[in-house]
Amino acid sequence: MSVEQQASPAERVSRRVDGVDVLGAISPSRAADFMTCPLLFRFRTVDRLPETFSVDAVRGTLVHKVLEDLYSLPAADRTPETARAMLVPTWEAFVADDPTLLHMFDAAEAAHEPGFLEWLRSAEVVLDRYFTLEDPRRLEPAERELYVEALLESKLLLRGFVDRIDVAPDGAIRISDYKTGSAPGVDHEAKALFQMKFYALVIWRMRGVIPRQLQLIYLGNGEIVRYEPDEDDLLATERKVNALWEAIRLADEVREWQPNRSRACDWCSFKTVCPAWGGTPPPVPDKRVRPDAAPPTAPRWFGRLRRWWRRSR
Ligand code: SF4
Repeated sequence: MSVEQQASPAERVSRRVDGVDVLGAISPSRAADFMTCPLLFRFRTVDRLPETFSVDAVRGTLVHKVLEDLYSLPAADRTPETARAMLVPTWEAFVADDPTLLHMFDAAEAAHEPGFLEWLRSAEVVLDRYFTLEDPRRLEPAERELYVEALLESKLLLRGFVDRIDVAPDGAIRISDYKTGSAPGVDHEAKALFQMKFYALVIWRMRGVIPRQLQLIYLGNGEIVRYEPDEDDLLATERKVNALWEAIRLADEVREWQPNRSRACDWCSFKTVCPAWGGTPPPVPDKRVRPDAAPPTAPRWFGRLRRWWRRSR
């Protein structure tokens, strides 16, 4: 389905819930934002402030797209050489959609820092590492970049995009997510798995089957984290997202979004307007958190790039 053919967020909601009011809608990334820092959530979801380009994030999007397309090829063709050869045409397609992406490398060039070719080479390294973890010639995913959504009994709509779903001959479901960074330490593993449990909950509610396995494929350091969820896990996840939404709703009601200074600040685009770093945030806008906050209206790679491009202009 083309981007233009996709339903609007509002249509998605009304179609999906068929006249039933929804409390709100949330994706794992926005939930993670709020858990990391409520003020970060506000800047991104309520103010929708522009964010700076991140060459790492764009590289991640590029690698995701190549891996998605790789599985469209006949199994025998899914080799490291083919994947590497797909990088440049995929990048060119990104740039054809918006040439301003090329500006991403201007600052590096001006500072005589590694530029486009080094960046592309780093994407090759990440892609090559994928082949040390899985053999795509032996896999036939049931779904790739699948949009999923489910309405909880609380009337909270959960949604997002799943990188890959494999279905075994006995019907067992495995959900996979590619990460271009490195696996987190044990202390942060639960946070990383939250996203996967979120998707497992959505799939359970959609299909009535608890996914047998969740796997996070870390291409940064060549590691796979696997987890087998059970019903108690997913019910706990459901309670957690409901509580999270209640916290978001309360913050929205009192118009107070507290900063939470942490290591995540190192990657935050909003440091200059963050009071935790001596900045002054803009007044809280009148608009509220809407049911269609952070809607995934297009394939994830396209949506991410489109947001970055528009904000960077
Ligand atoms: S800089 Fe840190 S505390 Fe401030 S909004 Fe960003 S993540 Fe939150």
